[in-house]
Amino acid sequence: MKIINTVREMQNHSDFSRMRERSIALVPTMGFLHEGHLSLMKDGKKRANEVVVSIFVNPTQFGPGEDFTSYPRNLDRDLALCQDAGADVVFTPKDTELYQSAYQTYINLTKLPNHLCGISRPTHFKGVATVVSKLFNIVKPHIAIFGQKDYQQLLVIRQMVCDLNFDIEIIGAPIVREADGLAMSSRNTYLTPEQRKQALCLYNSLNKAQELVNSGVIETAKIIDAAKDIISSQPEAMIDYIRICDPDTLEDVQILDKPVRMVLAVKIGKTRLIDNMMLTIESLNKL
Ligand code: AMP
Repeated sequence: MKIINTVREMQNHSDFSRMRERSIALVPTMGFLHEGHLSLMKDGKKRANEVVVSIFVNPTQFGPGEDFTSYPRNLDRDLALCQDAGADVVFTPKDTELYQSAYQTYINLTKLPNHLCGISRPTHFKGVATVVSKLFNIVKPHIAIFGQKDYQQLLVIRQMVCDLNFDIEIIGAPIVREADGLAMSSRNTYLTPEQRKQALCLYNSLNKAQELVNSGVIETAKIIDAAKDIISSQPEAMIDYIRICDPDTLEDVQILDKPVRMVLAVKIGKTRLIDNMMLTIESLNKL
């Protein structure tokens, strides 16, 4: 496994791979890897000749007062995990390698960031779209794999790729969960044992929603109220948002007459967690 720190070396490596007609899959991450990240790498191994994993805690996607400096980092452990998962290259640049002092170019989407996480994190998706487009130009992948765990991010990337004509196939991979259902996240490490128990309310509320749909409830307001009850019963939980929305536009849906995505963000103590689930309507499938 090659470890690359500079843009020039990464571009040269990818040019050489492309010259030899080897396909490249990119898995962008911020490190502190877990099974969720590893599942993306394994998916990449199946789809391409080479998997490039980027490990970069991207400063431009953190707002003031967010956890950029305290974000968990452990490069040695990450490199060992990448090696085991079969990654071919780890691209891990310094901040200054991607953002030189004269840096001034950013990518803004006009609609998708005006929902969900974009409301409480107003500059987040500008940072995400910018760094991902830079990674696309540096790694030159044929495909890039993102987790559905960050559902809004996946939509933002798909839209950007379409709008800017990146010749890259975007794959949305399923959410990997702990045995009890909590979505894996590098930020789970912030949770105390007591908060870890309470954090299960996100998954429980999504499951409750699907149960209600199965029992015939089609008003999203009722489903959201039930989810709020589950989450509010946890002493350290603070809801940022709970929405049931169109899976493409993220616009709110009032009545379930098509497949929808339920998405939520909840703070457990100081740790902000997100999760989501497709709500499937059996009665619709039978039509
Ligand atoms: P991050 O390091 O948190 O920026 O995540 C890097 C990539 O891993 C993103 O595409 C995430 O959506 C994906 N990811 C994070 N957690 C999970 C998970 N539990 N299951 C699947 N993919 C995940």
